[in-house]
Amino acid sequence: MTGKPDIREILKCVRCGTCRSVCPVFRELGWESTSARGRLMIAGHLLDGGLPDEAALASLRSCTTCGICKEICPAEINSPQLIEGARRAISGRGLLSEAQLKLKTRIQATGNSLGEAQDRLAWMTEKEIPDRAKAVYFAGCLNSYRYPQVTARTLSIIKPLGVTVLKNERCCGSPLLRTGIAAETIDHNLEQIRATGAETVITGCAGCYTTLKNDYPPEFEVLSLSEFLEEHISDLKLKSLDITVTYHDPCHMGRHNRIFDPPRRVIEAICNLEEMKWSREEARCCGGGGGVRSGYPDLSLRMARRRLEDLPSNVETIVTTCPLCMKNLNDAGGMAIDLIDLVAQALPEHASGSGSSPGH
Ligand code: SF4
Ligand code: SF4
Repeated sequence: MTGKPDIREILKCVRCGTCRSVCPVFRELGWESTSARGRLMIAGHLLDGGLPDEAALASLRSCTTCGICKEICPAEINSPQLIEGARRAISGRGLLSEAQLKLKTRIQATGNSLGEAQDRLAWMTEKEIPDRAKAVYFAGCLNSYRYPQVTARTLSIIKPLGVTVLKNERCCGSPLLRTGIAAETIDHNLEQIRATGAETVITGCAGCYTTLKNDYPPEFEVLSLSEFLEEHISDLKLKSLDITVTYHDPCHMGRHNRIFDPPRRVIEAICNLEEMKWSREEARCCGGGGGVRSGYPDLSLRMARRRLEDLPSNVETIVTTCPLCMKNLNDAGGMAIDLIDLVAQALPEHASGSGSSPGH
């Protein structure tokens, strides 16, 4: 999504304040400027040519783009999209925060959002991968560098189903685009994907998914890992596990892209699923998205702790489909695992008792 937001969209706000009842940032901070309503007023002022002060910039930058305000807004305003547009407008005026500048420099220097100098494919245990395949697995920065075991496990499970990886993947662009900065890595990744001849790109990261699906040209099908696993559930010959888990919907998988059922169907093919207090369209944000984890880590963690309050009683394991959610929930004291970790435990070759919490 590019271009300047339409100010008439902002003027549709009837100031009812319904969004205040669900905004996770407003819940923590309680300032009008941190609800969708307050942010829209600030965005309107800036797009009208107004000069932003630090408080106005912080208001726009502290939105996780979770989208729950859009879900319940009676005027059907797409606040996260307008807020992203306002972020682009202020970035276009050269007003980048220190965190944004560092992020941009890291991605330009290393090709990843974490600034890691190590080989991006160091996680890969496979000795050989095909140059061309029907589908390609896009691992993403967080999975490649922070969850190498999860990433290796994913490829080992899906490679026999006709999947390869990019030899030289770079950041999908999500952390830049969501904070309003143009992403130069998109063209590089597009060339890499085209070179594999793949018609499908699979990813297990919510940020990568929404970016590949909505910000890249529509040259290929984009599937979340949960959709791909659901499609191949009978090939995997999964066994039942006598455990109960819950599922956290990542905002950019669920609300933004309506991927609610595939992860649940995969989980239910393996074990019992008990829903969190708020789930699907109403799922509360983990607090990690929209650049908030890097820009406002304490606030981000407060939101993650709040999300843990939604756990069903007597259920500890939270399955999710995004490494950022997994990291934020675990940093807040939760026990979150990736969906692929659950699948790995249910594979016929997995010996029971050989490790109960893979991926960490
Ligand atoms: S819910 Fe929608 S119309 Fe109501 S205040 Fe929030 S953004 Fe405005
Ligand atoms: S997208 Fe989420 S964090 Fe941003 S204003 Fe809406 S409810 Fe608040």
